[in-house]
Amino acid sequence: MRLVVDLNRCQAYAQCVFLAPEVFSLHGEEALLYEPRVAESRREDVLRAAAACPVQAILVDPARRPEEAGSDGR
Ligand code: SF4
Repeated sequence: MRLVVDLNRCQAYAQCVFLAPEVFSLHGEEALLYEPRVAESRREDVLRAAAACPVQAILVDPARRPEEAGSDGR
């Protein structure tokens, strides 16, 4: 499964870190790091983390936008 965190939205509340520490981690006060590709076995943890995020910054399996299909990496 794929995962995207909108880091412009993320306020580093760290709810996701508590719920899925294998996937999300905070470095310093507000730098969130995360795994963009996560094993299916962790789906439940990730969905819980996404639901708990106060600003809904976590997108699970985001749809690819048409302009991204066949992307040349820009
Ligand atoms: S729960 Fe949301 S706001 Fe908090 S660190 Fe995670 S992504 Fe950022």
